[in-house]
Parts: sequence; structure tokens; C-alpha cells
Amino acid sequence: TKFQSVGLLVGVTGIVGNSLAEILPLSDTPGGPWKVYGVARRPCPSWNVDHPIHYIQCDVSDSQQTRDKLSELNDITHIFYVTWINKPTEAENCDVNGRMLRNVLEAVIPNAPNLQHICLQTGRKHYVGSFELLGKIQPHEPPYHEDLPRLNLPCFYYTQEDILLEEVQKKEGLTWSVHRPSVIFGFSPYSLMNIVGSLCAYAAICKYEGMPLRFPGSRAVWEGFWDVSDADLIAEHEIWAAVDPFAKNEAYNCSNGDVFKWKDLWEVLVEKFELENGGFNGESRLTTGEMMKDKGPVWDEIVRENGLVPTKLEEIGGWWFVDATLGIIDSSLDSMNKSKEHGFLGFRNSKTSFSSWIDKMKSYRFVP
Ligand code: NDP
Repeated sequence: TKFQSVGLLVGVTGIVGNSLAEILPLSDTPGGPWKVYGVARRPCPSWNVDHPIHYIQCDVSDSQQTRDKLSELNDITHIFYVTWINKPTEAENCDVNGRMLRNVLEAVIPNAPNLQHICLQTGRKHYVGSFELLGKIQPHEPPYHEDLPRLNLPCFYYTQEDILLEEVQKKEGLTWSVHRPSVIFGFSPYSLMNIVGSLCAYAAICKYEGMPLRFPGSRAVWEGFWDVSDADLIAEHEIWAAVDPFAKNEAYNCSNGDVFKWKDLWEVLVEKFELENGGFNGESRLTTGEMMKDKGPVWDEIVRENGLVPTKLEEIGGWWFVDATLGIIDSSLDSMNKSKEHGFLGFRNSKTSFSSWIDKMKSYRFVP
């Protein structure tokens, strides 16, 4: 085959990386046919092996390794940067996540003569600040739009944008785009933040213990309007920006384009796991971190009894992330106007999206 485009996907087994690895090689994907290189540290897991891509094991926080493995890929035309590492403080996050991006760009830009575009995925913390500062600072007022000024505090997304803009100067005609999703609904047992997978594990444990499914979040989240980002939609948005000339050199929000309430999604989770709906639990909040802290052995038992793909509870359940996101008390919505004005009209129905990612977690045997 003669490929029209060659994508380097950094974070191939992540929540959006896995969607990109599935969508890019399809015959009707814009800009295609695509050849795809996919990078992650761990070996290719069983649920990613069917994607027709070239899998490369490389730790991009190691500059030597990154140079050794990525500088020889001189046919790359597009980079999709969908990875991150989580450190205890935002200062450390800025340092390591900035270095990772820089390592990749320094290895590829001088060595890939046909490189055209770089997509960087960041997120909503651009408008609300880092996890470290959640609830401690005054975020921007929603609906967030792309022209809002940066908050006056460290955020690794700002560091990454600055590095991106500096690096693209090094090659004439090289273009970029930044993608800022909300909380992502998707499929990846390797993701640091997978709310659907975590809630499925929580539901499976409630079922096993004969408990109702109680909502581990604040009243504001239970009753307020919310928006999320479907992982396949983000992949489509990134591919759009990679190939459409009218999308270049801009930052975009990237969310489903609808609003919902968690009390409605909760019914979906209740039905999928055939549970009793425990609903909102009053102002004295439950946290999954607290409820799930001794459930490792219970999870091992659920995995064994149901013949699931072996996982540890701490891998599949990102309790810190569930508690941080479902516990917020401010409303948080973005605007998709800029994407639409530039020609991206994609959307998802968030309730259908939630339901279909739960089905995928089940059909791949990660949850019963
Ligand atoms: P994930 O955590 O889902 O996936 C990360 C991927 O990168 C995995 O494939 C992982 O595999 C790989 N990886 C991690 N470290 C390295 C490394 N040093 N070298 C090479 N590969 C590595 O990523 P997300 O899509 O969640 O995150 C991308 C961006 O999106 C981040 O900025 C994040 O903050 C943002 N975002 C995420 C949201 C979410 O709900 N998940 C919400 C909004 C924004 P391995 O571990 O095997 O290396």
C-alpha cells in the first residue's frame, strides 16, 4: 500500500490512544490511508494487538531512548500526543510532562522531512487549574471558551503549549493544534483516569456484596448539568485538526456537545449491573477511596469467579480521580462554538456514550 499519511501516536494504549489506534487505520479515515506507529512503555496488551499498527515500546521521559527509537522513523507526517505522567505536585508535573513532549519533538522534527502537523491533547485543567489546587482557587466561569486567559498558576498544560509553540518554529510550514477535553468516557484499563472503568469496578463490587449502588459524589454533580468527552469523538477531532487546513494553529475545546445529569446516567449503570439504585447519599459525602480501600481481595475473587482478564483493583479503579471529579461543587461546562465555526460538527449523545463504553468494558471481560 502507498500511505498518504504516517501517524506517530504517543500513548497508544491510553484512553484516547486506543481509540486513535482503532480509527486511524480504517479505510475511510480522513487523510488516509494511514500508517501508524504507536508508542507506550509496557508491552502491547491483548486488547490492543488487533489494531494494524507498528507498536514501539519506549519511555519518552528518557531522552536517549526516545532519540534512539523515534529519530529513525523518518516517514512520520503527523504526531498525536496523547500521554502524560502524574506526579504529586504540579511543579513536578510541569517538569516531567514538559520534558516528555520536548523529547518526542526533538527526536522527530529534525528527522522527519515530511512532518506536517502536531496534535497535543491537554484538557479542562487549562481553565480550572491542577488537581492539587482543586477547590483552592477561583477557576474561570463556565462555559469555558478558548480565548480565556491562562490562570496565574503552574499547570503542565501551559508548559506543554509553550514547548509546542517553540518547537514548531523549527520547521517551516509545520502546524499544530491543542485539544482540551472534559472528563473522558472511553476504554483503556491502562489509563490513569478512566471514570467509566472505575465506576464499573465499583458497581461490580457493590453487586458482589449485595449493596445498592450509591452515588459517590456531591449534590452539585448529581443534580447539575455536566458535559464529558467521548474518546472516539476526541480521536475524530484530532484527526480533523490534523488534516483540515482551516483547523490549523489553534486550541480547541473538545466535548460531546450535549449536557446531562449524573442522576440520569446513574440509572444506566444501575441497569447494566442489575443493582438497586442507592442514589445520592446526602451531604455527608461518600468517597470511593474510602469505600474501596480494603476491597482488593474482593476484586480478586470477582475476577476469578467470572474468568475476567486479570487486573488488580488499583489498576482498574482510579478512585482519586472519581472522587476528585464527582466531588466538585462548581459547575463546569465548555463551549464547542469555536470547533463548529472552524468546521468540526461531530458530537456524541453522552448517555449512549456512557452505555456503550460500559458494554465494551464488559465484552472485553474487564468487568462482569
Ligand atoms: P492515559 O492515561 O489514558 O494513557 C497514557 C498512555 O501513555 C498509555 O498508553 C501509557 O502506556 C502511555 N505512557 C505513559 N507514560 C509514558 C512514557 N513515559 N513513555 C511512553 N508512553 C507513556 O492518557 P490520557 O488520554 O488520559 O491523557 C492524555 C492527556 O489528556 C493528559 O494531558 C490528560 O491530563 C488529558 N485528559 C485526560 C482526561 C481523562 O479523563 N482521562 C480528561 C481530560 C484531559 P504505558 O503506561 O504502558 O506507558
